[in-house]
Amino acid sequence: MTTSTSPESQDIRDVVIIGGGPVGLLLAYQLARFGCKPSVIEQDDKTRIPSYGRASTLWPRTIELLDQLDLAEPLLQAGMITRSGLHFHEGRRVKGGLMYGSRMDKLGDTFFKFALHLRQRLTEEIITEAALKDYRFQPMILHQIESYTIDQNDDSYPVTVQIKDLRTEKMVQLKCKYLVGADGGKSTVRKLARISFDGERTKSQWIRMDALVKTDMPNSRYLNSIDSASHGQILWCPIDNGLTRIGYVFSGSLIEKYGGVEGVTQEVAMKEAKHALHPFQLEFLSVDWFTIYGIGQRIASTFCADGRIFLAGDAGHTHSSGSAQGLNTGVHDAVNLAWKLALRVRGLAKETVLHSYDAERRRVVQTVIDIDKVISTLISGHYPPQFQGRSEPTRELLTEWFNDLNMQHFTLGLGISYPHSLLNMDTTDSSSATIEPGERGPDVYLTSLGTGDPLRLQKILSNRAKFSLVVFAGNPEYTRLALCDLGNAMTASDSFINMFPEQAFQWFTIPAASGNGGQEILGCRPFGKVYMDGDMKAHEMYGVDVQRGAIIVFRPDGWIGIVVPLTGAEQLRVYFDGMLYRH
Ligand SMILES: Cc1cc2nc3c(=O)[nH]c(=O)nc-3n(C[C@H](O)[C@H](O)[C@H](O)COP(=O)(O)OP(=O)(O)OC[C@H]3O[C@@H](n4cnc5c(N)ncnc54)[C@H](O)[C@@H]3O)c2cc1C
Repeated sequence: MTTSTSPESQDIRDVVIIGGGPVGLLLAYQLARFGCKPSVIEQDDKTRIPSYGRASTLWPRTIELLDQLDLAEPLLQAGMITRSGLHFHEGRRVKGGLMYGSRMDKLGDTFFKFALHLRQRLTEEIITEAALKDYRFQPMILHQIESYTIDQNDDSYPVTVQIKDLRTEKMVQLKCKYLVGADGGKSTVRKLARISFDGERTKSQWIRMDALVKTDMPNSRYLNSIDSASHGQILWCPIDNGLTRIGYVFSGSLIEKYGGVEGVTQEVAMKEAKHALHPFQLEFLSVDWFTIYGIGQRIASTFCADGRIFLAGDAGHTHSSGSAQGLNTGVHDAVNLAWKLALRVRGLAKETVLHSYDAERRRVVQTVIDIDKVISTLISGHYPPQFQGRSEPTRELLTEWFNDLNMQHFTLGLGISYPHSLLNMDTTDSSSATIEPGERGPDVYLTSLGTGDPLRLQKILSNRAKFSLVVFAGNPEYTRLALCDLGNAMTASDSFINMFPEQAFQWFTIPAASGNGGQEILGCRPFGKVYMDGDMKAHEMYGVDVQRGAIIVFRPDGWIGIVVPLTGAEQLRVYFDGMLYRH
């Protein structure tokens, strides 16, 4: 990170974000991309911190979300991909364990059927570089929040944040519309807002280390796991630059052996890693980073206070790294919050849109925590309440747990959905499509006009804080009349689309047909850009009858907002009236 210009000259911001970790940076990147003025306040100069590993695995749904923000490609260029993994016991390959690898071939429609591994430091650097290059945004480093106040009589910039410049000890003030705490598990913002952090800490301690190693383990560049009697379920994860993330349980007897956690040096971590991997050989060429940390699960009692203060990432929830959920969940938070803040800041959305952040995200995070309690206990070699009375080895129970497809899909982010609400509106007309409001929009290839190049639907629906209105036009031989009527309804002066600011929308038309021109295929004017679904796969995947067509509204973050028939313009008006201000 480099130093930004002095804050005194820039004392008004739309959103002030405390914490320049991955979640705070991603939030700022999006707000800048969506036309807002954010500020990130970060207490450290991370270029001076020699090394830190932390989050190393991004799951498929997280990569999809980052792809829609044009961030997946630079991360993929820097990281390491795994598509499968093996599980070992006493040097032999066995079934079961963490089941990472065997999950990757069952991922349905996503094109990201892999995990992406890179150290958190690189993730932060890449987001920072993109924010600077694309939006000239830089975080304010070596600054720390001291306090904030809210003036309820000030409608424009009611939040005043007191920031300390750690180099000069001088106080500076930033006024803003919203304040976000993305300042990690010990969040000062959460404490200042008096939001409780509910949960508990277990006695389990785990080691994580990033190192350049040599080993005789087969397929050592797969995402493997090893069952060990002495060191729990061992994580073996290839990461960027040829490094490997090794993780194991540091049991009570080991802590005793080394005279407490304080006695665990890098040499001890290396020595115990070698024991843990036995009978495989392990030679350390260099160690980039290691840590020993306690396992616990906590969640903030709310992710929003006074309608102005929000929590995201570790500031709102912490759990083990057993299924690598921390940063993945934080990315989901940041993506869920950014477009809502942006539309609100730009005066387009009603307050109810922002309220949905707490309702949608806290429910999902609670499930992450419930799952984490089970798997972190099993990884540590103990039996959680769900498995009391069972006598099989804990690795078999872990396998049983992850064999549940719903569990896998949730853990990989693909199964995360939001309940019906104003944003995810259930309509009485369920015959238009089988996809449900609140579900993730599946990905599928379409083809471009002319060249016939394959293009992914999710890539087309790039996240620009706009609702995507996608007209699944069906087969125009059957739907031409309805499409023409829809066109007339949209151009009429009392059309719903003229009631709301056009910058909140982007339109696309997908005919279940091929041809040489958009208008030619449809027989009337297309709605936005046309992409062809000649093999009808997209219609089939979304469950749209090609003889009837449908309009599917995607929220800016890619989840389904509402599904209506081609005659459903009035339902769309009701939907957007619930969320957006009219002109
Ligand atoms: C060993 C380990 C392994 C992990 N592995 C994974 C994994 O593989 N996958 C995964 O998804 N997650 C993993 N996690 C979790 C992941 O690291 C966190 O969930 C993630 O870092 C959260 O990001 P964040 O931006 O919310 O918080 P942080 O990364 O903690 O960032 C918070 C930032 O706020 C700054 N800050 C704090 N207080 C203040 C203040 N008062 N003023 C200004 N700045 C402040 C801090 O300096 C920091 O830069 C792992 C965690 C650990 C410990």
